[in-house]
Amino acid sequence: MRESAGSAAGWCHWPQPVRGERKSLMAVLIDGSQGEGGGQILRSSLSLSLLTGQPFRMVNIRAKRRKPGLLRQHLTAVLAAAKISGAEVLGASIGSGMLDFKPGKVVPGEYAFAVGTAGSATLVLQTILPPLLTAGAPSQLKLEGGTHNPFAPPFDFLVKAFLPLINRMGPRVCATLVRPGFYPAGGGEFHVSITPADRLAPLHLGSRGAIAAKRAVARVAALPRTIAQRELAVIAHKLRLDPDALAVEELTNSAGPGNVVIVEVECEHVTEVFTGFGEKHVPAEDVARQAAAEAREYLAADVAVGPRLADQLLLPLALAGSGSFTTLPLSLHALTNIGVLRQFMNVETKVEQIEKKVFRVSVERKA
Ligand code: AMP
Repeated sequence: MRESAGSAAGWCHWPQPVRGERKSLMAVLIDGSQGEGGGQILRSSLSLSLLTGQPFRMVNIRAKRRKPGLLRQHLTAVLAAAKISGAEVLGASIGSGMLDFKPGKVVPGEYAFAVGTAGSATLVLQTILPPLLTAGAPSQLKLEGGTHNPFAPPFDFLVKAFLPLINRMGPRVCATLVRPGFYPAGGGEFHVSITPADRLAPLHLGSRGAIAAKRAVARVAALPRTIAQRELAVIAHKLRLDPDALAVEELTNSAGPGNVVIVEVECEHVTEVFTGFGEKHVPAEDVARQAAAEAREYLAADVAVGPRLADQLLLPLALAGSGSFTTLPLSLHALTNIGVLRQFMNVETKVEQIEKKVFRVSVERKA
């Protein structure tokens, strides 16, 4: 990658191709070490670049992670974003700390993307989904990789919590799990069909409404059923769930061993999903306690969405032009995402504290 100095205002010159006569374009300069300093800064930048047509240069990619730079999951997201838009890309290689991305026009259609490791395929989807939501024609996607990864939205969260809210904004997005993929074997696969809307409708989630149901499912693949049973015993106790709200599932179609416990809180206006990911040397009880603690924190506060949905809804709301939700104290992911949004769009995000643990976030896009 060639060096080119960025200005303090956050812009830099798109480097001239070695051959060709393209004019130099101003690119948004994104510092990947800002705030949370992880992969979401990259994924949001890719989505926003595709949506606004603005090229960007990113430096210090994932600088605050133990293994900084592009890992397979992030590289797959870059290549997927490039593929659906015919983008010009520099720096797209494993370990790269710098990327230049210049998008072309987003073309909806049939695509297949494989992470190639157990890296999260749901995060690859979240990178290319926003521009395909209003892309003028349907898309069919096949995604392969991890479907239930720590530090990423598990497939169940996508289908039960995130996509229903996206669908309420106008598009029709349907995801089907073919095979789960757990760390370290990966090998998961899911398909997504997207029927776009002309534009996204604003979404306002002031309250979650009455709680309609609380349930939990514990899944094991190539692991003893008792792991799932021990997890559900903890969840049942901590969240006061009846036995008929608990389910054990033994998966037979996973490429490798894995375990997740998923708590679903179905409310009148929204469904939230909290997940514990089984790990070697971590007792099943601890895995379940973590998911239960997140669910309890959500249930104890009168908010519409939890911290994960909060950071993931900001971009769709900005696309819609406006939107709002109540939530728990904002995570560093959410605060960082607000900053990245502002670098690509004229968006005002207001965060008001209503009670000790209740915040209202409103997003308004200016002309
Ligand atoms: P990053 O750490 O920057 O790669 O971003 C991770 C993304 O995954 C953020 O949008 C998180 O909200 C999301 N995420 C992490 N864990 C979960 C989970 N258990 N459920 C839903 N989303 C999650």
